[in-house]
Amino acid sequence: LRGVVALDGPSGTGKSTVARGLATALGASYLDTGAMYRAVTLAVLRAGTDPGDAAAVASVSESLRLEMSTEPERPGVSLDGEDVDREIRGAEVTGAVSAVSAVARVRELLVAEQRRLIDEALASPGGVVVEGRDIGGVVAPEAGLKVYLTASAHTRALRRSAQDSADGRVSDVDRTRDDVQRRDTIDSQRAVSPLRRADDAVEVDTTELDVPGVLARLRELVTE
Ligand code: C5P
Repeated sequence: LRGVVALDGPSGTGKSTVARGLATALGASYLDTGAMYRAVTLAVLRAGTDPGDAAAVASVSESLRLEMSTEPERPGVSLDGEDVDREIRGAEVTGAVSAVSAVARVRELLVAEQRRLIDEALASPGGVVVEGRDIGGVVAPEAGLKVYLTASAHTRALRRSAQDSADGRVSDVDRTRDDVQRRDTIDSQRAVSPLRRADDAVEVDTTELDVPGVLARLRELVTE
């Protein structure tokens, strides 16, 4: 899997922006695995299912159809044929996604689908940049390059709330900081595939870097 770049790390590290930028620069495909967990979460909420009820969540995840666009300039996710790209970024989904992604069956299904999408992308030239939490450790342990992005908690909260404003959502730095921390705690402590840096991942601290700075560093790593 030399053509795979695994980009992991907690929220607010600028992962999505740099993953898309890197994929575009490399002529690679782009897979946003967080969008897949978010889409399942939306389906759970729409079904009126309690996100804490693992068996019910598993059964929702077994009966939905997800389609991912892996074009970095036009990434997207559709749920049962409906484009849900905007809705999955809202506060309700963000508030419930960590509980849904802690369910083992959900991870089993999504990891299998992610591996299928990676294989499909590798069939065309250019490789694939995959972003998430467990890509280097679980989804694609043979990835040619594994990067773990970090940033200070304050910087991550600022970036997340700037993203909220840019997308037209209510933004509040203090609330966002609490939300980011709560999600990272659940993501790092869950029993299956907890968020952690893979042993062979290169850590890049983005606190003091802007997007072009992070991209330059990643491009260096790709050509090393
Ligand atoms: O990256 P994003 O913030 O969209 O991810 C949303 C949530 O999806 C994360 O907080 C995490 O709970 C879950 N996730 C995961 N494994 C991945 C990607 C995302 O558990 N590979």
